Parts: sequence; structure tokens; C-alpha cells
Amino acid sequence: MDDMFCYQCEQTAKGVACTTKGVCGKTADISNLQDDMTGALVALAVATKNKDIDEATYHIMLEGMFTAITNVSFYDVTLKDLIGRIDAITLSYGGKLHIYTMKEVWSDNEDIRSLKSLILLGLRGMGAYAYHAWVLGYKDKEVNDFFFTAMRAIGGKGSVDELLPLVLETGKVNLACMKLLDEANTQTYGDPTPIEVPLMIEKGPFIVVSGHDLYDLYQLLIQTQGKGINIYTHGEMLPAHGYPKLREFDHLKGNFGTAWQNQQKEFIDLPGAVLFTTNCLMPPKENYKDRIFTTEVVSYPELVHIGEDKDFTPVIEKALSLGGYSEDEVTVLSGGPMMGKAMPNDTFVITAATNAITVLKPEKYPDMACLRCGSCTDHCPAAIQPVRINEFERAKDVDALNRLSALDCIECGLCT
Ligand code: SF4
Ligand code: SF4
Ligand code: SF4
Repeated sequence: MDDMFCYQCEQTAKGVACTTKGVCGKTADISNLQDDMTGALVALAVATKNKDIDEATYHIMLEGMFTAITNVSFYDVTLKDLIGRIDAITLSYGGKLHIYTMKEVWSDNEDIRSLKSLILLGLRGMGAYAYHAWVLGYKDKEVNDFFFTAMRAIGGKGSVDELLPLVLETGKVNLACMKLLDEANTQTYGDPTPIEVPLMIEKGPFIVVSGHDLYDLYQLLIQTQGKGINIYTHGEMLPAHGYPKLREFDHLKGNFGTAWQNQQKEFIDLPGAVLFTTNCLMPPKENYKDRIFTTEVVSYPELVHIGEDKDFTPVIEKALSLGGYSEDEVTVLSGGPMMGKAMPNDTFVITAATNAITVLKPEKYPDMACLRCGSCTDHCPAAIQPVRINEFERAKDVDALNRLSALDCIECGLCT
């Protein structure tokens, strides 16, 4: 028998399902606890049928959905605590516990399993949106009630003909939920507009903020004002730079790193702190574990968690103690170190052919006169003459440059 069953994200093992350990780093125990927690939400939905649902009940449904999405929760203690809180609310409505287990979905016939999975995974993503909107004070009763209706259907014995319309309804309600979050974000932080986002990390203490909770970013920006700490977005937090009220902060400097899945390489030896506000957390390496912080529903054993009071002092103190980089100037290459082109600044177009971005600490070499050794000509893959081309380029002799086929240069950098 499999240790676990999870196929909720595109990382899933062999494109089928994670059945022994999650590709995301989730253990079988954590996956099974998430299933238990989802089963507890089904029991809650059943208990509240035809009853007035209070705010705390709506909220814990969103919390449970959000907690189960990928790269968010890796900690048994917080999951057990959440299950206990869901069960307590279920009992307060006169409901029964442990009436449903997710194994019933995973082992059902393929049509029912597929339809229920589509609904459940849609609800989890929607739960994250609704949770963010809630944090900013925006709620929608129709959206919130739908979580309960849909979870009752997941725990029910509905046929394909009954579940299919609910799948379509999940998509429809999801659009309403995204509209709600859009309203929450734009009315709180202004309408986002396109903006150039620097990729350079300036010298001095800094904090990298990952995930997509704009409220957390805003609170951190306020608490770091005037402290000599720069803030950089990471991964899915990149769009935050577009919001007028967030970019009012001069110390929101730019974006750190590349895609979220590269964090285990990019955070090695990082001289700054990192705050994970939502998903995208990968199991941290020992090398940098001491500088990773979580908040809201994100949790991982041994990492410092910032609670509801949003007191980011531990993150700030860590950033100050690490001190950041000692230089703020970097050389950016579009491509790898051998074939990459040196870019004059960090605002250049990334195309499908961009295989890498290389950021190097600048090395200063003293200028020296050419020895006319001919080595650059020997190594030029375009079989042209770099030194002669350089001379005619300085002389602005275009005809000579054409004769020397200067345009054949592929900018490989071997001669420099
Ligand atoms: S969330 Fe983790 S365990 Fe689930 S499918 Fe994705 S990689 Fe696998
Ligand atoms: S520029 Fe070319 S010819 Fe001049 S010293 Fe360097 S490698 Fe030799
Ligand atoms: S940069 Fe241009 S001139 Fe220099 S070695 Fe490469 S192809 Fe030749």
C-alpha cells in the first residue's frame, strides 16, 4: 500500500502522483495529516448545513484550504493544531468528527475521483485568494458559502451528473473570488502599473520577501523604514512593485533571484534574511536555514514563525546581524559565464532563448597595453581579428570594420 497520495501540483512524481514522498519535500506523514485536515473540513461543512455560519467558521475553512496548497505547510505541530481547531468548531455546531477520509476520494472510480479532485484543488487555490482578500477586510458571502457546499459534495455520494455542474460552478465562483482579491489589492494599494524592477542587490542589510501576501510586505516595509535595510521581492512577490502604495517606499529596491524553484541554490551563503509569506517554500538547506522566517499559514519545523501581531523584529535583527553584501555593483550577463553577453544594466529583455542570467561580483583589472601576442585572434570562434577591429572601431573607420567582417562577431567574450 502507498504511504501517501498527492497529485495536486505539476511537480508530482512521474507526472502521476507522489506516493512515498512529495517531490516538493512533503513527507508521507505531512501529506496524510493534510488529508486528515481536509477530512475534518468535510465534517465541518456537513455540520454547518442549513445553519448560520459565523466569521470564525468561514475563516478556518479558508485557512484549511490555503494550508493544503503546495509548498506551504511542512509542520505536523501546526497541522495537528489546525485539525483540533476545526474539530472544536464542528462540535460547536453539533456535528460529528471523523465522518470522512480522503482515501475514499483517492480510491473512488476514476470519473468520481477526477471530478472531486478538480473541485477540491480548485477550492484550495481559491482559498488562498479569499484568505488574502479577507486579510485586507474584503469578504464575499457567496464565495465563502460555496466552500461549504462544495466540501459537502466531496464528502457525499453524488454521481458524475451531479458533480460535473459543480466543477463548472467552482470555476465560476473562482472568478468571483479573483475579482474580490483584485478589488482588495487595488483599493488598498492602488492600481498597479508596469514598472522596471532592478535585479541588483545593493550593499548593506536586506530582507527578501517571498510569496504573495501584500499585507505582510506592507507591514514589513513600514517596520524597516529608516533602519538602513533594503527590501527585495522574490518569486511570486514580483508584481508587488507595480502597486503605487508599495513602491512609495524607497527601500523597496528590486527583485532577488530567479524562479522560486532555484531557491535552494540561490539562498546558499545569503547575507540577508528571507520571509516566506505564502507558498513557494522549499525545504531549507542547513547552510541558510537560520535566516528563513515564515508567517501566516506557512510553517516548517525549527523555522522562526512570525505570528498574528506581525512583529517582524526577529527578521529585522537577523538582516542587521548578517549585514548584507559589501559591494552593490554587480556585472550582469545575459547567459552563462562563457557565452553570456555582458549587459550595461539590469533592464534587458528575457526571451525564450535566455538560458541563464549570470550575476558576477565585478573584478577590476588594471588596463595594460596590448602585447600583440595574437592569442585573441587564435581563439576567436568567428575567425576575425579582435585587435584590428578594436583599432578601427576607435578610429570610427566603418569601411575597414566591414572589410574585417566585424559584424561576424558573436560577442562570445573570449577575446576580452
Ligand atoms: S504538492 Fe508535493 S506531494 Fe503533492 S503532488 Fe505536488 S510535489 Fe507531490
Ligand atoms: S588583446 Fe589579443 S593580441 Fe593583445 S594581448 Fe590580449 S590576447 Fe594578445
Ligand atoms: S567576442 Fe567577437 S571578436 Fe572576440 S573572440 Fe568572440 S567572436 Fe571573436
